Amino acid sequence: MGLSCELHERDILNFRKSGNLIDKHEELTYKYLCKKDTFIIILLEINNLKFYKYMFGYKYKTKLLEQIFKIIEACLGIKGNLFRFEKDIALITLHDLINESEAISIIEKILDIFNYPIDIEGNTTKLSINIGASSYPKDSNVLEEAISYAEIALNYCRKNDNNRYKFFKPKMYYDVIKEGKIEIDILNAINKDELILYYQPQIDINSNKVYGLEALLRWNHPQYGMVSPIYFIDIIEKNEMIRDVGKFVVRESFERLKKLHKEGYNDLTISINISEKQLTDPTFIDFIKHMLKKVKLNPKYVILEITERILINSTKDILAVITMLKNVGLRIFIDDFGTGYSSLNYLYKFSVDGIKIDKTFIDDIHRNQKKLIITKNIIKLAQDIDLEVVAEGVEIIEQLRCLENNNCNKIQGFIFGKPMSKSELNRFLCNFKI
Ligand code: C2E
Ligand code: CA
Ligand code: CA
Repeated sequence: MGLSCELHERDILNFRKSGNLIDKHEELTYKYLCKKDTFIIILLEINNLKFYKYMFGYKYKTKLLEQIFKIIEACLGIKGNLFRFEKDIALITLHDLINESEAISIIEKILDIFNYPIDIEGNTTKLSINIGASSYPKDSNVLEEAISYAEIALNYCRKNDNNRYKFFKPKMYYDVIKEGKIEIDILNAINKDELILYYQPQIDINSNKVYGLEALLRWNHPQYGMVSPIYFIDIIEKNEMIRDVGKFVVRESFERLKKLHKEGYNDLTISINISEKQLTDPTFIDFIKHMLKKVKLNPKYVILEITERILINSTKDILAVITMLKNVGLRIFIDDFGTGYSSLNYLYKFSVDGIKIDKTFIDDIHRNQKKLIITKNIIKLAQDIDLEVVAEGVEIIEQLRCLENNNCNKIQGFIFGKPMSKSELNRFLCNFKI
Protein backbone atom coordinates (compact mmCIF):
# COMPACT_ATOMS: atom_id res chain seq x y z
CA MET A 1 0.00 0.00 0.00
CA GLY A 2 1.37 3.42 -0.92
CA LEU A 3 2.02 5.73 1.99
CA SER A 4 -0.20 8.40 0.49
CA CYS A 5 -3.21 6.18 1.33
CA GLU A 6 -2.48 6.82 4.99
CA LEU A 7 -3.08 10.49 4.53
CA HIS A 8 -6.81 10.36 5.18
CA GLU A 9 -9.16 12.92 3.86
CA ARG A 10 -10.31 13.47 7.45
CA ASP A 11 -6.85 14.65 8.41
CA ILE A 12 -6.74 17.09 5.59
CA LEU A 13 -10.18 18.39 6.44
CA ASN A 14 -9.25 18.77 10.09
CA PHE A 15 -6.13 20.57 9.16
CA ARG A 16 -8.08 22.78 6.87
CA LYS A 17 -10.57 23.62 9.58
CA SER A 18 -7.76 24.67 11.86
CA GLY A 19 -7.17 27.43 9.35
CA ASN A 20 -3.42 27.27 9.61
CA LEU A 21 -2.68 27.82 5.99
CA ILE A 22 -3.57 31.12 4.52
CA ASP A 23 -3.92 32.97 1.22
CA LYS A 24 -4.33 31.80 -2.33
CA HIS A 25 -1.89 28.95 -2.09
CA GLU A 26 -4.21 27.07 0.23
CA GLU A 27 -5.96 24.83 -2.29
CA LEU A 28 -2.72 24.10 -4.00
CA THR A 29 -1.11 22.96 -0.77
CA TYR A 30 -3.69 20.30 -0.07
CA LYS A 31 -3.83 19.02 -3.60
CA TYR A 32 -0.10 18.95 -3.72
CA LEU A 33 0.40 17.28 -0.36
CA CYS A 34 -2.22 14.63 -1.16
CA LYS A 35 -0.30 13.42 -4.13
CA LYS A 36 2.99 12.92 -2.38
CA ASP A 37 4.08 9.84 -0.47
CA THR A 38 6.88 11.23 1.62
CA PHE A 39 8.18 14.73 2.05
CA ILE A 40 10.01 17.02 4.40
CA ILE A 41 8.05 19.91 5.87
CA ILE A 42 10.02 23.06 6.51
CA LEU A 43 8.70 26.08 8.34
CA LEU A 44 10.82 29.13 7.68
CA GLU A 45 10.31 32.16 9.86
CA ILE A 46 11.69 35.56 9.08
CA ASN A 47 12.50 37.17 12.41
CA ASN A 48 13.04 40.80 11.57
CA LEU A 49 10.46 41.37 8.85
CA LYS A 50 8.43 43.57 11.18
CA PHE A 51 11.36 45.93 11.47
CA TYR A 52 11.40 46.56 7.70
CA LYS A 53 7.62 46.90 7.65
CA TYR A 54 7.82 49.66 10.28
CA MET A 55 10.79 51.31 8.55
CA PHE A 56 9.58 51.27 4.95
CA GLY A 57 5.88 50.38 5.07
CA TYR A 58 3.61 47.47 4.34
CA LYS A 59 4.04 47.57 0.56
CA TYR A 60 7.77 47.34 0.95
CA LYS A 61 7.37 44.29 3.15
CA THR A 62 5.18 42.61 0.51
CA LYS A 63 7.74 43.29 -2.20
CA LEU A 64 10.51 42.05 0.01
CA LEU A 65 8.64 38.82 0.67
CA GLU A 66 7.91 38.30 -3.03
CA GLN A 67 11.56 38.75 -3.84
CA ILE A 68 12.71 36.42 -1.07
CA PHE A 69 10.20 33.75 -2.05
CA LYS A 70 11.36 33.94 -5.66
CA ILE A 71 14.97 33.41 -4.62
CA ILE A 72 14.02 30.49 -2.38
CA GLU A 73 11.89 28.90 -5.11
CA ALA A 74 14.80 29.15 -7.53
CA CYS A 75 16.99 27.46 -4.96
CA LEU A 76 14.46 24.63 -4.44
CA GLY A 77 14.18 23.88 -8.16
CA ILE A 78 12.16 20.73 -8.84
CA LYS A 79 12.88 19.36 -5.37
CA GLY A 80 10.42 21.51 -3.50
CA ASN A 81 7.55 23.93 -3.27
CA LEU A 82 6.94 27.02 -1.25
CA PHE A 83 3.66 28.11 0.31
CA ARG A 84 2.69 30.97 2.55
CA PHE A 85 1.99 29.82 6.13
CA GLU A 86 0.74 32.07 8.93
CA LYS A 87 2.30 35.50 9.70
CA ASP A 88 5.88 35.77 8.51
CA ILE A 89 6.32 32.04 8.12
CA ALA A 90 6.71 30.15 4.85
CA LEU A 91 5.97 26.46 4.47
CA ILE A 92 8.31 24.57 2.17
CA THR A 93 7.94 20.97 1.15
CA LEU A 94 10.85 18.94 -0.14
CA HIS A 95 10.20 15.74 -2.01
CA ASP A 96 11.95 13.02 -4.06
CA LEU A 97 14.93 13.16 -1.72
CA ILE A 98 17.48 10.37 -1.53
CA ASN A 99 18.10 10.85 2.19
CA GLU A 100 17.98 13.36 5.04
CA SER A 101 21.39 14.79 4.21
CA GLU A 102 20.01 15.93 0.85
CA ALA A 103 17.35 17.85 2.78
CA ILE A 104 20.05 19.32 5.01
CA SER A 105 22.07 20.52 2.06
CA ILE A 106 18.98 22.25 0.60
CA ILE A 107 18.25 23.85 3.99
CA GLU A 108 21.83 25.07 4.17
CA LYS A 109 21.51 26.57 0.72
CA ILE A 110 18.37 28.42 1.87
CA LEU A 111 20.19 29.64 4.98
CA ASP A 112 23.01 30.85 2.78
CA ILE A 113 20.61 33.13 0.87
CA PHE A 114 20.07 35.03 4.10
CA ASN A 115 23.78 35.53 4.69
CA TYR A 116 23.75 38.31 2.12
CA PRO A 117 21.91 41.64 2.14
CA ILE A 118 19.08 42.10 -0.35
CA ASP A 119 18.55 45.39 -2.17
CA ILE A 120 15.01 46.51 -2.86
CA GLU A 121 14.06 49.95 -4.15
CA GLY A 122 17.44 51.29 -3.12
CA ASN A 123 17.15 50.03 0.46
CA THR A 124 19.47 47.36 1.77
CA THR A 125 17.85 44.74 3.98
CA LYS A 126 19.42 41.93 5.94
CA LEU A 127 16.94 39.33 7.08
CA SER A 128 17.45 36.72 9.78
CA ILE A 129 15.55 33.45 9.84
CA ASN A 130 14.85 30.28 11.80
CA ILE A 131 13.87 26.94 10.34
CA GLY A 132 12.01 24.01 11.88
CA ALA A 133 11.58 20.80 9.92
CA SER A 134 9.71 17.53 10.21
CA SER A 135 9.29 14.53 8.04
CA TYR A 136 5.97 13.16 6.71
CA PRO A 137 5.02 10.39 7.39
CA LYS A 138 8.10 9.41 9.41
CA ASP A 139 7.36 11.79 12.30
CA SER A 140 3.59 11.44 11.95
CA ASN A 141 1.34 10.09 9.26
CA VAL A 142 -1.24 12.71 10.23
CA LEU A 143 -0.49 15.80 8.21
CA GLU A 144 -1.68 18.29 10.81
CA GLU A 145 0.51 16.65 13.42
CA ALA A 146 3.56 16.54 11.14
CA ILE A 147 3.18 20.27 10.51
CA SER A 148 2.82 21.02 14.22
CA TYR A 149 6.01 19.00 14.82
CA ALA A 150 7.80 21.29 12.38
CA GLU A 151 6.40 24.18 14.44
CA ILE A 152 7.76 22.65 17.65
CA ALA A 153 11.18 22.33 15.97
CA LEU A 154 10.92 25.97 14.86
CA ASN A 155 10.17 26.98 18.43
CA TYR A 156 13.25 25.11 19.61
CA CYS A 157 15.27 26.94 17.04
CA ARG A 158 13.87 30.29 18.17
CA LYS A 159 14.95 29.64 21.76
CA ASN A 160 18.49 28.86 20.74
CA ASP A 161 20.02 31.50 18.47
CA ASN A 162 22.95 29.29 17.61
CA ASN A 163 20.81 26.89 15.67
CA ARG A 164 19.27 28.37 12.63
CA TYR A 165 17.57 25.11 11.74
CA LYS A 166 16.29 22.14 13.72
CA PHE A 167 14.77 18.84 12.74
CA PHE A 168 11.95 17.61 14.93
CA LYS A 169 12.89 15.08 17.63
CA PRO A 170 10.33 13.35 19.88
CA LYS A 171 12.14 14.78 22.94
CA MET A 172 11.09 18.27 21.79
CA TYR A 173 7.46 17.23 21.93
CA TYR A 174 7.80 15.85 25.47
CA ASP A 175 9.60 19.02 26.58
CA VAL A 176 6.72 21.16 25.32
CA ILE A 177 4.22 18.95 27.12
CA LYS A 178 6.34 18.96 30.27
CA GLU A 179 6.67 22.74 30.20
CA GLY A 180 2.90 23.15 29.83
CA LYS A 181 2.24 20.64 32.61
CA ILE A 182 4.76 22.31 34.90
CA GLU A 183 2.96 25.62 34.45
CA ILE A 184 -0.32 24.07 35.56
CA ASP A 185 1.18 21.97 38.37
CA ILE A 186 3.15 24.81 39.90
CA LEU A 187 -0.04 26.72 40.62
CA ASN A 188 -0.79 24.04 43.21
CA ALA A 189 2.75 23.33 44.34
CA ILE A 190 2.79 25.80 47.25
CA ASN A 191 -0.53 24.61 48.64
CA LYS A 192 0.56 21.00 48.37
CA ASP A 193 3.85 21.72 50.24
CA GLU A 194 5.85 20.56 47.24
CA LEU A 195 8.24 23.52 47.30
CA ILE A 196 11.18 23.11 49.62
CA LEU A 197 14.52 24.75 50.28
CA TYR A 198 17.93 23.21 49.88
CA TYR A 199 20.99 24.84 51.40
CA GLN A 200 24.48 25.00 49.94
CA PRO A 201 27.34 25.68 52.37
CA GLN A 202 29.80 28.54 51.87
CA ILE A 203 33.28 28.02 53.27
CA ASP A 204 35.92 30.48 54.48
CA ILE A 205 39.21 28.81 53.59
CA ASN A 206 41.17 31.13 55.89
CA SER A 207 39.32 30.08 59.01
CA ASN A 208 38.33 26.64 57.63
CA LYS A 209 34.74 27.26 58.71
CA VAL A 210 31.29 27.16 57.18
CA TYR A 211 30.37 30.85 57.38
CA GLY A 212 27.18 30.90 55.35
CA LEU A 213 24.47 29.11 53.39
CA GLU A 214 22.73 29.86 50.11
CA ALA A 215 19.03 28.97 50.10
CA LEU A 216 18.13 27.28 46.82
CA LEU A 217 14.60 26.42 45.86
CA ARG A 218 13.55 22.90 44.87
CA TRP A 219 10.25 21.53 43.68
CA ASN A 220 9.55 18.06 44.93
CA HIS A 221 7.39 17.12 41.95
CA PRO A 222 5.27 13.96 42.39
CA GLN A 223 6.16 12.77 38.87
CA TYR A 224 9.54 14.29 38.02
CA GLY A 225 11.24 14.14 41.42
CA MET A 226 13.40 16.99 42.71
CA VAL A 227 13.17 19.70 40.04
CA SER A 228 15.81 22.48 39.86
CA PRO A 229 14.54 26.07 39.69
CA ILE A 230 16.13 26.53 36.27
CA TYR A 231 13.08 24.65 34.92
CA PHE A 232 10.41 26.75 36.62
CA ILE A 233 11.79 30.10 37.85
CA ASP A 234 11.16 31.75 34.48
CA ILE A 235 7.59 30.44 34.42
CA ILE A 236 6.75 31.69 37.90
CA GLU A 237 8.46 35.01 37.22
CA LYS A 238 6.27 35.51 34.18
CA ASN A 239 3.02 34.74 35.99
CA GLU A 240 4.08 36.71 39.09
CA MET A 241 3.84 33.66 41.36
CA ILE A 242 7.45 34.45 42.29
CA ARG A 243 6.09 37.04 44.74
CA ASP A 244 4.38 34.35 46.84
CA VAL A 245 7.11 31.79 46.27
CA GLY A 246 9.73 34.41 47.21
CA LYS A 247 7.92 35.10 50.48
CA PHE A 248 7.92 31.38 51.22
CA VAL A 249 11.70 31.33 50.58
CA VAL A 250 12.30 34.29 52.91
CA ARG A 251 10.12 32.83 55.69
CA GLU A 252 11.63 29.34 55.49
CA SER A 253 15.23 30.49 55.30
CA PHE A 254 14.87 33.02 58.16
CA GLU A 255 13.33 30.33 60.37
CA ARG A 256 16.00 27.76 59.44
CA LEU A 257 18.81 30.24 60.16
CA LYS A 258 17.35 31.20 63.53
CA LYS A 259 17.14 27.52 64.44
CA LEU A 260 20.78 26.97 63.45
CA HIS A 261 21.86 30.04 65.45
CA LYS A 262 20.09 28.58 68.47
CA GLU A 263 21.85 25.25 67.92
CA GLY A 264 25.20 27.03 68.27
CA TYR A 265 26.09 27.98 64.68
CA ASN A 266 25.62 31.58 65.77
CA ASP A 267 27.51 33.47 63.07
CA LEU A 268 26.04 31.71 60.03
CA THR A 269 24.66 33.95 57.29
CA ILE A 270 21.91 33.13 54.81
CA SER A 271 21.97 34.21 51.16
CA ILE A 272 18.61 34.46 49.44
CA ASN A 273 18.06 34.91 45.69
CA ILE A 274 15.72 37.77 44.89
CA SER A 275 14.11 38.29 41.51
CA GLU A 276 13.12 41.57 39.88
CA LYS A 277 9.39 41.02 40.40
CA GLN A 278 9.96 40.75 44.15
CA LEU A 279 11.82 44.04 44.23
CA THR A 280 8.92 45.76 42.50
CA ASP A 281 6.36 44.17 44.84
CA PRO A 282 5.13 47.06 47.06
CA THR A 283 4.65 44.68 50.02
CA PHE A 284 8.17 43.19 49.85
CA ILE A 285 10.02 45.49 52.28
CA ASP A 286 7.28 45.40 54.91
CA PHE A 287 7.21 41.64 54.62
CA ILE A 288 10.97 41.41 55.20
CA LYS A 289 10.73 43.74 58.22
CA HIS A 290 7.80 41.77 59.60
CA MET A 291 9.63 38.44 59.24
CA LEU A 292 12.85 39.76 60.82
CA LYS A 293 10.82 40.87 63.82
CA LYS A 294 8.75 37.73 64.02
CA VAL A 295 11.74 35.37 63.82
CA LYS A 296 13.91 37.75 65.93
CA LEU A 297 16.73 37.65 63.42
CA ASN A 298 19.45 40.28 63.20
CA PRO A 299 19.37 41.60 59.59
CA LYS A 300 23.18 41.60 59.41
CA TYR A 301 23.02 37.82 58.90
CA VAL A 302 20.88 38.15 55.79
CA ILE A 303 22.32 38.63 52.31
CA LEU A 304 20.07 39.27 49.35
CA GLU A 305 21.53 38.12 46.02
CA ILE A 306 20.46 40.19 43.05
CA THR A 307 21.72 39.28 39.62
CA GLU A 308 23.89 41.60 37.62
CA ARG A 309 21.24 41.55 34.88
CA ILE A 310 18.62 43.12 37.20
CA LEU A 311 21.02 45.86 38.26
CA ILE A 312 22.02 46.70 34.70
CA ASN A 313 18.41 47.17 33.64
CA SER A 314 17.27 48.67 36.90
CA THR A 315 14.94 51.59 37.26
CA LYS A 316 14.89 54.36 39.87
CA ASP A 317 12.28 52.35 41.80
CA ILE A 318 14.58 49.36 42.12
CA LEU A 319 17.42 51.60 43.21
CA ALA A 320 15.15 53.05 45.91
CA VAL A 321 14.10 49.58 47.11
CA ILE A 322 17.72 48.45 47.34
CA THR A 323 18.58 51.54 49.39
CA MET A 324 15.64 50.86 51.72
CA LEU A 325 16.68 47.22 52.17
CA LYS A 326 20.18 48.39 53.06
CA ASN A 327 18.70 50.82 55.57
CA VAL A 328 16.88 47.92 57.21
CA GLY A 329 20.35 46.42 57.76
CA LEU A 330 20.41 43.65 55.15
CA ARG A 331 23.40 43.12 52.89
CA ILE A 332 23.20 43.07 49.09
CA PHE A 333 25.42 40.96 46.84
CA ILE A 334 25.61 41.01 43.05
CA ASP A 335 25.03 37.48 41.76
CA ASP A 336 26.47 36.04 38.53
CA PHE A 337 29.05 38.82 38.51
CA GLY A 338 30.87 39.13 35.18
CA THR A 339 28.14 37.61 32.99
CA GLY A 340 26.42 40.87 31.98
CA TYR A 341 27.84 43.85 30.19
CA SER A 342 31.02 44.95 31.82
CA SER A 343 29.52 48.22 32.97
CA LEU A 344 31.18 48.63 36.32
CA ASN A 345 29.49 51.85 37.32
CA TYR A 346 26.73 50.01 39.18
CA LEU A 347 29.37 48.94 41.71
CA TYR A 348 29.21 52.45 43.13
CA LYS A 349 25.76 53.48 41.86
CA PHE A 350 24.23 50.84 44.15
CA SER A 351 25.88 50.60 47.51
CA VAL A 352 26.31 46.83 47.34
CA ASP A 353 28.27 44.82 49.88
CA GLY A 354 29.73 42.06 47.78
CA ILE A 355 29.89 40.14 44.53
CA LYS A 356 29.66 36.49 43.56
CA ILE A 357 32.01 35.64 40.73
CA ASP A 358 30.09 33.54 38.26
CA LYS A 359 30.88 29.86 37.71
CA THR A 360 31.73 30.51 34.04
CA PHE A 361 34.91 32.29 35.20
CA ILE A 362 35.75 29.67 37.79
CA ASP A 363 35.29 26.74 35.35
CA ASP A 364 38.43 27.53 33.36
CA ILE A 365 40.41 29.53 35.84
CA HIS A 366 43.16 26.87 36.23
CA ARG A 367 43.80 26.42 32.51
CA ASN A 368 42.82 29.66 30.84
CA GLN A 369 45.37 32.39 31.49
CA LYS A 370 43.07 35.19 30.30
CA LYS A 371 40.23 34.13 32.60
CA LEU A 372 42.66 33.88 35.48
CA ILE A 373 43.91 37.42 34.85
CA ILE A 374 40.35 38.77 34.56
CA THR A 375 39.25 36.97 37.73
CA LYS A 376 42.35 38.09 39.59
CA ASN A 377 41.62 41.71 38.69
CA ILE A 378 37.92 41.42 39.53
CA ILE A 379 38.90 40.15 42.98
CA LYS A 380 41.40 42.96 43.45
CA LEU A 381 39.05 45.66 42.16
CA ALA A 382 36.24 44.48 44.45
CA GLN A 383 38.46 44.25 47.51
CA ASP A 384 39.99 47.68 46.83
CA ILE A 385 36.52 49.21 47.11
CA ASP A 386 35.72 47.13 50.21
CA LEU A 387 33.42 44.60 48.62
CA GLU A 388 33.31 41.01 49.76
CA VAL A 389 34.05 38.41 47.10
CA VAL A 390 32.58 34.91 46.91
CA ALA A 391 33.62 32.46 44.21
CA GLU A 392 30.83 30.10 43.19
CA GLY A 393 30.83 26.83 41.31
CA VAL A 394 34.23 25.72 42.60
CA GLU A 395 34.53 22.02 41.83
CA ILE A 396 38.16 20.98 41.84
CA ILE A 397 41.30 21.57 43.88
CA GLU A 398 43.13 23.34 41.02
CA GLN A 399 40.41 26.01 40.90
CA LEU A 400 40.52 26.35 44.67
CA ARG A 401 44.31 26.85 44.62
CA CYS A 402 44.03 29.60 41.97
CA LEU A 403 41.46 31.43 44.11
CA GLU A 404 43.46 30.98 47.28
CA ASN A 405 46.60 32.34 45.56
CA ASN A 406 44.61 35.39 44.51
CA ASN A 407 43.28 36.20 47.93
CA CYS A 408 39.71 34.97 47.43
CA ASN A 409 38.84 33.00 50.55
CA LYS A 410 35.05 32.69 50.38
CA ILE A 411 34.15 29.59 48.42
CA GLN A 412 30.88 27.96 47.38
CA GLY A 413 30.85 24.86 45.23
CA PHE A 414 30.56 21.12 44.89
CA ILE A 415 34.17 20.80 46.10
CA PHE A 416 32.82 21.34 49.64
CA GLY A 417 29.14 20.49 49.31
CA LYS A 418 26.19 20.39 46.95
CA PRO A 419 22.87 22.02 47.85
CA MET A 420 21.34 19.76 50.51
CA SER A 421 18.16 19.15 52.47
CA LYS A 422 17.88 20.42 56.06
CA SER A 423 18.70 17.01 57.57
CA GLU A 424 21.70 16.56 55.27
CA LEU A 425 22.79 20.08 56.25
CA ASN A 426 22.69 19.24 59.96
CA ARG A 427 24.96 16.23 59.35
CA PHE A 428 27.25 18.33 57.14
CA LEU A 429 27.64 21.09 59.75
CA CYS A 430 28.28 18.51 62.47
CA ASN A 431 31.03 16.70 60.55
CA PHE A 432 32.62 19.55 58.59
CA LYS A 433 36.40 19.63 58.60
CA ILE A 434 38.78 20.73 55.85
P1 C2E B 1 22.43 30.77 41.34
O1 C2E B 1 21.86 31.78 42.26
O2 C2E B 1 23.60 31.20 40.52
O3 C2E B 1 22.77 29.52 42.24
C1 C2E B 1 23.89 28.72 42.08
C2 C2E B 1 23.56 27.52 41.23
O4 C2E B 1 24.76 26.85 40.93
C3 C2E B 1 22.71 26.50 42.00
O5 C2E B 1 21.89 25.86 41.03
C4 C2E B 1 23.75 25.55 42.54
O6 C2E B 1 23.25 24.25 42.76
C5 C2E B 1 24.75 25.53 41.41
N1 C2E B 1 26.09 25.22 41.88
C6 C2E B 1 26.71 25.63 43.01
N2 C2E B 1 27.95 25.14 43.08
C7 C2E B 1 28.14 24.40 41.96
C8 C2E B 1 29.25 23.63 41.45
O7 C2E B 1 30.32 23.53 42.04
N3 C2E B 1 29.07 23.02 40.24
C9 C2E B 1 27.90 23.11 39.55
N4 C2E B 1 27.81 22.47 38.38
N5 C2E B 1 26.84 23.82 40.02
C10 C2E B 1 26.96 24.46 41.20
P2 C2E B 1 20.33 25.64 41.29
O8 C2E B 1 20.08 25.31 42.73
O9 C2E B 1 19.84 24.69 40.25
O10 C2E B 1 19.72 27.07 41.04
C11 C2E B 1 19.70 27.63 39.78
C12 C2E B 1 19.29 29.08 39.83
O11 C2E B 1 17.92 29.21 40.18
C13 C2E B 1 20.04 29.90 40.86
O12 C2E B 1 21.29 30.23 40.33
C14 C2E B 1 19.12 31.08 41.02
O13 C2E B 1 19.31 32.03 40.00
C15 C2E B 1 17.76 30.46 40.83
N6 C2E B 1 17.13 30.25 42.15
C16 C2E B 1 17.32 29.26 43.04
N7 C2E B 1 16.56 29.44 44.14
C17 C2E B 1 15.90 30.60 43.95
C18 C2E B 1 14.96 31.37 44.74
O14 C2E B 1 14.60 31.03 45.87
N8 C2E B 1 14.50 32.54 44.19
C19 C2E B 1 14.91 32.98 42.96
N9 C2E B 1 14.40 34.11 42.50
N10 C2E B 1 15.78 32.28 42.20
C20 C2E B 1 16.26 31.12 42.69
CA1 CA C 1 22.57 32.97 43.83
CA1 CA D 1 25.11 32.73 40.54
